Amino acid sequence: MARLVETGAYITGAYIMSKEGNYDAVLSANKSYSGNFGDKGKLPLPPARHFAILTCMDARLDPAKYAGLAEGDAHVIRNAGGRASDDAIRSLVISHKLLGTNEWFVIHHTDCGMQLFTGEIIAGLLEDNLETASFNGKAWSNPKHGGGSKAGHDVHWHTFTDNPRSVTEDVQRIRNHPLVPKHIPIYGFIYDVGTGKLNEVKEASAAGKVAG
Ligand SMILES: [Zn+2]
Repeated sequence: MARLVETGAYITGAYIMSKEGNYDAVLSANKSYSGNFGDKGKLPLPPARHFAILTCMDARLDPAKYAGLAEGDAHVIRNAGGRASDDAIRSLVISHKLLGTNEWFVIHHTDCGMQLFTGEIIAGLLEDNLETASFNGKAWSNPKHGGGSKAGHDVHWHTFTDNPRSVTEDVQRIRNHPLVPKHIPIYGFIYDVGTGKLNEVKEASAAGKVAG
């Protein structure tokens, strides 16, 4: 079971947060970034290293750092869980067909929040109320009630319980997709949030090996 240390509270890091949120901090950071942009404005659109990563949106994961990417190097497709949803596969197909990537990594991670609920749980919470819910280590609850929507019952939330299995299923789904050519190798990994290490899921990479 994944663990969630704190919900509904911010553990502040070394960043400055204004009263309005992050608006000022983001613009200030961008000012220094664009001030040192150098010749990155001349980068071509297709990824220079011809590969793509599908990974989770988890704030602890920084694919540019854990995989050694610079601007222009690779496509990084992110969603909750790093799942091979229809939309993630849409991006991968564009990544290869129009922008020339020919090697793909599916990278899930330990302690993923997607293991802390089911589709039924989030749909039920949303039906009651839309504000941020609390997690007590075992169950979710809404601090407020009313004003929810039943629309969450129509969403495929792509939750999972078993990490190696989720990576393997996603690699298989991409491998078997009719719009994905058989010559693209697809590797499956689990990123360890405790160590920063990428651990390969052998059965996933085996499922993603070049066919024929
Ligand atoms: Zn995650």
